Amino acid sequence: MNGATTSGELRAHNRVRLLRAVHDCGAARTRSQLTRDLRLARGTASVLVAGLSEDELLHEEPAPEHARGRPTQVPGPHPRGPLALAVDVREDAWELAACELGGRVTVLDVRPHDGTPQGALGPLGEAVAAHEQRLGHRVAGVGVALAGPVRHGGLVDIPHLGWRSVNVPALLGLDMPIVGNDTAFAALAEARRGRLQGIQVGLHLHVDFDLGGVLVVDGRPLGGASGTGAEFGHMPLTGSDRPCPCGAIGCWSMDVGANALLRHVGLAHGGGRGREQAEHVLATSEEAVAANAAALGRGIAALVNAHDPEAVTLSGHGVELYERAAAALHRACEPGLMAIRRDQPPRIEGSALGWRGALLGAMESIFDAFLTPEGLDRWRESHPDQGRDTPERQNVTHSTLKGQNPI
Ligand SMILES: [Zn+2]
Repeated sequence: MNGATTSGELRAHNRVRLLRAVHDCGAARTRSQLTRDLRLARGTASVLVAGLSEDELLHEEPAPEHARGRPTQVPGPHPRGPLALAVDVREDAWELAACELGGRVTVLDVRPHDGTPQGALGPLGEAVAAHEQRLGHRVAGVGVALAGPVRHGGLVDIPHLGWRSVNVPALLGLDMPIVGNDTAFAALAEARRGRLQGIQVGLHLHVDFDLGGVLVVDGRPLGGASGTGAEFGHMPLTGSDRPCPCGAIGCWSMDVGANALLRHVGLAHGGGRGREQAEHVLATSEEAVAANAAALGRGIAALVNAHDPEAVTLSGHGVELYERAAAALHRACEPGLMAIRRDQPPRIEGSALGWRGALLGAMESIFDAFLTPEGLDRWRESHPDQGRDTPERQNVTHSTLKGQNPI
């Protein structure tokens, strides 16, 4: 019961449990399923749902299909409920989205940037501020994923772009954003909604211009002592002696990702440029793809030897690399495995979340802070009688990278 002793504390505890369950299942379970899952009495569940609906945290809809008899209700996000603003800042562009309880994503803005801290974060900060102003109290927080190690809650290094200790919250002009590494966020999303769900020890690798990797234990990416743990890409796992912009020699990430694909075919690379050309190489050059996949496989073998994960998941370009060259990857991985690992090597698979992982992980970090008794108290306190902007439910739909449904 986590120390909940009074009836008020118990109620607050159960409100959080119910909202958490709705969020984690993607708002896909009926009220009676949730009642059973959470071992609540039916009357208790009714009272909780009624209270959460009144607070504009939940909204019930009839299930699309139900057996004859009483209609079944599915609790989901309230149309005026809390939103996590989530941002994925890549080396060449950023994407800003509003995420509802349950994980539904509405993309608000996608823009390219010039690779400088000011060029990337200045316009992004303005865009976030404009949406915060518009959405008012509905914004539960802002989570920002970046393609580099993050220290002290917001100091970011992106070696390829020459970023050194860039103060992201200051440049965004935001008070308390949650700033994190894109690989760690992608791994968190994979553990919550992807193929690392229920896995005790997993390895997640995120491939963009280069590669990041992190161990996920009991659903939590291991952040290290200062939060910069998602850096398996900067280990010398492939025997290369090429200097890496991070300052080390022979980093694995030099051989996997868009930069490595471009280098393989003799094109200019680095600085977060060349995404389209790299995608063309990925789609057309079997040799470059096989070399990338082989380097990926060699590194995976080393990490499997070290960590004994049950599963290895790949996101970003990793999904396509695996689809296009799984054989080359496994050919390079297997000889690198210790004999004791070869009988039952961990499964390796592409993420079903694809490129969405970093954004979804940023969202999860916001809802993790919100879905607490204190977070819900703050929601009630800040809750005005009329919202500043109350879009109709039909405006809130699933979207893709290109989807621009205003929330
Ligand atoms: Zn490096």
